[in-house]
Parts: sequence; structure tokens; C-alpha cells
Amino acid sequence: MSDNKKGNLVVISGPSGTGKDTVVSRLLQKRPELLFSVSATTRAPRPGEKDGVDYTFLSRECFLDMISEDKFLEYAEYVGNYYGTPIKPILDSIEAGNTIILVIEVQGAKQVMEKIPDAITIFIVAPSMDELERRLRGRGTDTEEKLKARLQRTSEEIKEKHHYTHVVVNDEVSRAVDEILSKI
Ligand code: 5GP
Repeated sequence: MSDNKKGNLVVISGPSGTGKDTVVSRLLQKRPELLFSVSATTRAPRPGEKDGVDYTFLSRECFLDMISEDKFLEYAEYVGNYYGTPIKPILDSIEAGNTIILVIEVQGAKQVMEKIPDAITIFIVAPSMDELERRLRGRGTDTEEKLKARLQRTSEEIKEKHHYTHVVVNDEVSRAVDEILSKI
């Protein structure tokens, strides 16, 4: 791989309810040349989610096979399901000189930081915990039990934000998008 052809890897994390998905979709609309890394997951699709677009939806068995075949750049278990970044599309797009965006949780992000130390890493936070809980409840896609588990996980994840190169507060989507663009 020649240095001048090498692309960039951008990792974006943000606990559930930070509005991270809205920020990322606005970012991709604004800069269509940025590539979104489609993760694999064992979680069931939410209404409107498309296989191969939002996620590649896999059985647990299939996911475990991919782990044993070393096919993930990183993977993690999150609130009872597996999520992982297939390595091949990442290597291909870096080789082709593209900038690829990984939207992943903290454990996976730390694996990427170790393997690719020059990755740009961005942690998105909500303006407050109250706002975050309000957003999560408003989404209405989780049971109370899952929601509590997501909130618990959120408090744990926020403690890890110092590992990231940048922390962006999603107080206003277009402002957060512009701040991220200024970093990449
Ligand atoms: P959700 O179920 O809300 O779609 O995702 C749960 C969490 O898993 C989110 O923080 C999301 O960013 C993260 N996630 C999505 N894809 C991946 C992945 O490939 N690897 C890791 N480690 N986390 C992921």
C-alpha cells in the first residue's frame, strides 16, 4: 500500500440516545464521498431497517463462525447481542484511498484504536443525561428492561470518552456535523 493512496478511518461512538445516528446520516448526506461501514449484528432488525444497508443481520451461529475465522476488525457484545465490523471492506476502502466511517460502541472502538492508532476517533455526547433518557424513551423501540440496560451501558461508556481524540456535544445536529467535519 503506498502512503499517498492510503485512506482514513474515522470511528464515531456515542451511547444510545445521543442522536448519533441522526448526526451520522446528516454527515453522510452532506459528504457523499464518505463511506459508511455496514456492521454485522445478531440483533433483530428494527422496523424500517434494511439488511445490508443498516446492518448485515446474522444468526448468532454465523457471527461466532466469523469470529473464529478472524473476519472482524473488531467486535463486541452489547446488551445481549453481538456487533462487529467485517474487516475486508475496511481494508479495501483504505487501500482505495477512501475515508470510511465506523459507528461502533466503546469496546470495539478501543480494539480499533489499538490496531489502527492513527484512526480519528470521535465520541458524541448528549447535552445531558435527562435529555438522553428522554430521547431513548421517545424512540419507543426497547422494553423497559432493555432501556434500563442501555442507560446503564451509557453511563459506563461516558467514562471512556477520554480515549477518543475528539468529544462532540450533540446540542444541535447541524452544528455537531460541522464540528465533526472540521476534525476529519
Ligand atoms: P443499536 O442496537 O442501537 O443499533 O446499536 C447498539 C450499539 O452498537 C451502538 O452503540 C452502535 O454504535 C454499536 N455498534 C453498531 N455496529 C457495531 C459494530 O460493528 N461494532 C461495535 N463494536 N459496535 C457496533
